Amino acid sequence: AEPPAAMAVPQAGQDGLVLLRRIGRVDPASLDDYRAHGGYTALRRAFAIGPAGVIREVTDAGLVGRGGAAFPTGRKWQATASQPEHPHYLVCNADESEPGTFKDRVIMEGDPYALIESMTIAGYAVGTHKGYLYLRGEYPRALHRLTHAIEQARAHGLLGDDVLGQGYAFDIEIRRGAGAYICGEETALFNSIEGYRGEPRSKPPFPVEKGLFGKPTAANNVETLVNVLPILTMGAQAYAAIGTEKSTGPKLFCVSGSVDRPGIYELPFGATLGDLLDLAGKPGNLRAVLLGGAAGGFVRPDELDIPLTFEGTREAGTTLGSGVVLALDDTVPLPRILLRIAEFFRDESCGQCVPCRVGTVRQEEALHRIAESTGAAAASDIALLREVGRAMRDASICGLGQTAWNAVESAIDRLGAYE
Ligand code: NAD
Ligand code: SF4
Repeated sequence: AEPPAAMAVPQAGQDGLVLLRRIGRVDPASLDDYRAHGGYTALRRAFAIGPAGVIREVTDAGLVGRGGAAFPTGRKWQATASQPEHPHYLVCNADESEPGTFKDRVIMEGDPYALIESMTIAGYAVGTHKGYLYLRGEYPRALHRLTHAIEQARAHGLLGDDVLGQGYAFDIEIRRGAGAYICGEETALFNSIEGYRGEPRSKPPFPVEKGLFGKPTAANNVETLVNVLPILTMGAQAYAAIGTEKSTGPKLFCVSGSVDRPGIYELPFGATLGDLLDLAGKPGNLRAVLLGGAAGGFVRPDELDIPLTFEGTREAGTTLGSGVVLALDDTVPLPRILLRIAEFFRDESCGQCVPCRVGTVRQEEALHRIAESTGAAAASDIALLREVGRAMRDASICGLGQTAWNAVESAIDRLGAYE
């Protein structure tokens, strides 16, 4: 496969790529090839500096979660590692299901050993001997490649009772999701692994205290974990020099929709939305860009100078989320897109709490009425959408209900979707 396009990133490998540097170049089935491309140097360094040293590097590097919520990874690992109750667990959240998100898939299919090495380092840092990899059920190629890589790693002493002869025991078990978006929510995911319905738990307590099987658990997204490799190989300081002061490092963006070259792009944080769309081949008749996925929000074509950082998107009243950049040209019927998003949330609501269970249905009904008319909305439907949206945001248990109105709200307020 052709390597994806990218902008130059300082202190990185070929083509300026950090996270994607092996994709398309390394044989995902070959442990030897992974080693020949720098594999397992980060784990050696982890053993040299010890668990506390790893957490210090990750903290100093400024790494924050790439699943969408940007929580500081070092803080999460420190909080898990310091819990007196044992066992601790590591969970890799690979249930990538946000519409328009496919970055973790590219990593798992193209560089599976990188995730296994990263999980081993994370497990060592938080003091666990068991890592669960919860994989989206619709990713059969990733399952096949990861399963093979885990077997090879075990056979070569890179997983198992004595990893790299360092006296540390660690193994990984893959669990497959069964197509429910909500199982990507970390506590619903724990329930799913434990054999219960995939319903979110109330937080707090946070998983670092009471997570999988009620034990201290570090749950991290795939992209978050693989960032640990460059942090340990290039050092926290060099890593933190990439990106901006508050959003450090490289970031993967999933570009789709009305662009010439859809795909995964790796950029340092701080490039603008316009820079990214120029790389991907922006249409001349751009109407809107959905940033952050269905849980994110729309921005207008005159807002392309928004910096792609957590702080920059927040200041612009939108979100980076999991890195979705979905471009829509002016031939796309916006009311149908909004209805599709609403159908998605209604389908995927787990039904546990009333604001979300009922709100997602009411939202879809109103959008359906609007889409079936000429696309212009009655004032009463807009008022209803706002009221329902507010109730979902304020009173839902988990992120699904809390964000189910984001895209519709931004389409009304920023795009004037129904005027
Ligand atoms: P959250 O803010 O509740 O939590 C983020 C992480 O930080 C969690 O792991 C949580 O346990 C931890 N955390 C938060 N406060 C903590 C504390 N005080 N102490 C210890 N740990 C703490 O967000 P969330 O509901 O887990 O995730 C929401 C995000 O998920 C959204 O931004 C959305 O974009 C994203 N999302 C991503 C996908 C995908 O496919 N990648 C799918 C759906 C949603
Ligand atoms: Fe379930 Fe929706 Fe409530 Fe989340 S907000 S717990 S998905 S009903």
